[in-house]
Amino acid sequence: MHPHLKVLLELQAVDLRLNEIRERLSRFPKRLAEVEMRATTARQQVASAKDGLKTSLTDRKKFELDVEQWKERAKKYRDQSYEVKTNEAYKALQHEIQNAEQEMGKAEDRLLERMVAGEDYERQVKVAEAALKEIEATSGAERRAIQGEYNAAQKELAAAEAARAQAVAAVPEDLVEHYERIAKRHNGISLAEVRGESCGQCGVHIRPHVLQQLQRPTNEEIFHCETCTRILYFADHSVAAAQASETAAASAAETPAAPAHES
Ligand SMILES: [Zn+2]
Repeated sequence: MHPHLKVLLELQAVDLRLNEIRERLSRFPKRLAEVEMRATTARQQVASAKDGLKTSLTDRKKFELDVEQWKERAKKYRDQSYEVKTNEAYKALQHEIQNAEQEMGKAEDRLLERMVAGEDYERQVKVAEAALKEIEATSGAERRAIQGEYNAAQKELAAAEAARAQAVAAVPEDLVEHYERIAKRHNGISLAEVRGESCGQCGVHIRPHVLQQLQRPTNEEIFHCETCTRILYFADHSVAAAQASETAAASAAETPAAPAHES
């Protein structure tokens, strides 16, 4: 195995881990906002139930006044009816009394409706307040849990960044740049394990002489997949040694392979 490949593999692992941690960290603002949103919605429900209750109490006072006014009017007409001189005037007042009593009845109906609605709003306020209290109690704990996870993720990030710096320091700078160029093109995966006789990432067949070279314990060359340009490696040298004899025999029968492709 190429002496730097082992470090590049470590770099690859730590980079994938960094991606995962950063992705996790990026979700925290949304998670906190969701907790906040639940409390906001509950507070809005309390406010809207209280508004309903307030309106119904205002209406109730207004209808109470209506009932009183129509009652007084009916009384006034009744008092006047005792003093009128003509039958016609008496009839007219009787009509007014009847009308006032009808209006009073209607106002009483409206008042009763408002009283029932008021009780309903009182219940709604109680339910909404209880829900808010519960949400505020749990959202505090949720926020603390999310904050705890966030702090832990920040620590993981710092540790992974330190591990990356260590790996980067162990290989030549141009090789790190080369690795990063390939990683950028391939979603962070710039190394490909050889599986069977193919690239483990894109599946393309690898030329026998490349396999042969790669499997040499003394190999100090970097080989790339000809198709996806990723850096090739063998995960297990014991397997590689077993395959070496097979490919050596196979390559003897084939035309000479093209040189390894450098990206
Ligand atoms: Zn490939």
